[in-house]
Amino acid sequence: MANKKEHKCSFCGRSESEVPMMLNGADGYICSDCVQSAFHMLEEYMPGATQNGKNTKTTLKDIDLNEVPKPKDIKAYLDQYIIGQDDAKRFMSVAVYNHYKRLAQATDGKKDDDVEIEKSNIIMVGSTGTGKTLLARTIARLLDVPFTIVDATVFTEAGYVGEDVESILSRLLQVADYDVAKAERGIVFIDEIDKIARKADNPSITRDVSGEGVQQSLLKLLEGTMVNVPPKGGRKHPDQDYIHVDTRNILFICGGAFDGIEKRIAQRLNAHTVGYNSVQNAKKIDPKNLMKYIEPQDLKSFGLIPEIIGRLPVLTYLNPLDREALARILVEPKNSIVKQYIKLFEMDGVKLTFTQDTLDYIVDKAVEFKLGARGLRSIVETIMMDAMFEVPSTDKKSFEVTKEYAEAQMEKRGNLA
Ligand code: ADP
Repeated sequence: MANKKEHKCSFCGRSESEVPMMLNGADGYICSDCVQSAFHMLEEYMPGATQNGKNTKTTLKDIDLNEVPKPKDIKAYLDQYIIGQDDAKRFMSVAVYNHYKRLAQATDGKKDDDVEIEKSNIIMVGSTGTGKTLLARTIARLLDVPFTIVDATVFTEAGYVGEDVESILSRLLQVADYDVAKAERGIVFIDEIDKIARKADNPSITRDVSGEGVQQSLLKLLEGTMVNVPPKGGRKHPDQDYIHVDTRNILFICGGAFDGIEKRIAQRLNAHTVGYNSVQNAKKIDPKNLMKYIEPQDLKSFGLIPEIIGRLPVLTYLNPLDREALARILVEPKNSIVKQYIKLFEMDGVKLTFTQDTLDYIVDKAVEFKLGARGLRSIVETIMMDAMFEVPSTDKKSFEVTKEYAEAQMEKRGNLA
């Protein structure tokens, strides 16, 4: 070994034995460490250059429908994390499965017929804290695709102060580690889509910066188009190198509370029930859950432009969470709030338990605060704060949260028990 001449890296000068791997070129050598730093420099100074879309496309596996979870499997997976909302889960499962079929068709290469499957972008309507984001996030986890959440309220028309809608794609690229091909199959959740509804019923209102204009620019993305994305997000700059992202196969899921839409649904249903078969219709309608009768025209009357509605063909709704649903959410999901706290304490070697009346009390408070399931978390956090501060420094092996303790904690923090 001693007399074997060791090659040296032409960049850092270290010899073969000092580096993980040495590559040789025509007139020199480069070690794997230098390759790595060169790669990082490229990434930093020429974002996207290291993984330009067209090059990485071929590295993605073609979609094999046999390997894709079937709608029933998708729903079963969602059931582990999301309580209730059966209709939404079924709609989502089918939409996602069809999305895969579309991707399979795109990679198939076979053009045996002209039936092109259109994209099944989704819109979910349901009040805050009912699980819209959770649904989208859980789907993305199952599919293992890049996923990003954006808030529609930050967007403005191009040229106004605020973010351009293209920034959605910058974020998707970021979570896809700038692998363009991966990002092009990602999922984008656009929250608060209702907030960019046209403000006035009169469509001829002069420029509506936050509303219709944004809807128009979103339209392009939803339709499927080639978008020039500024690599680091932010605003476009004439000298910047853009990354070209094709949005054709990106699945867009929109969510919104659409406060007051039930009134519009009721109006429409009433209008329909005036006819000669009104008695039969009236019988069928469940007045406590008008949301399930939602139709695209209700979104239109709320202020979404017809073109946007047309690009979100899968319309589904989420039920408001009743007491029973909240009680289940607290304990049942695979990563329920209670399970998370038990885990936190377990890591300190402490067995945490909640008495049943404590759980009931937490649910009562959540109902009272009207924050949906989101309220549950903050209530439990309030109750557990002191214990989380103190218990790790004691030699306690168990900790039981009683209703009296919970009430006292809530009172202490200014929440009326
Ligand atoms: P939305 O997007 O509809 O406003 P989220 O999905 O962000 O609501 O829900 C807020 C939190 O409430 C989630 O993190 C989740 O823990 C919980 N949650 C809401 N709905 C459900 C549900 N149906 N099943 C389980 N947890 C839920």
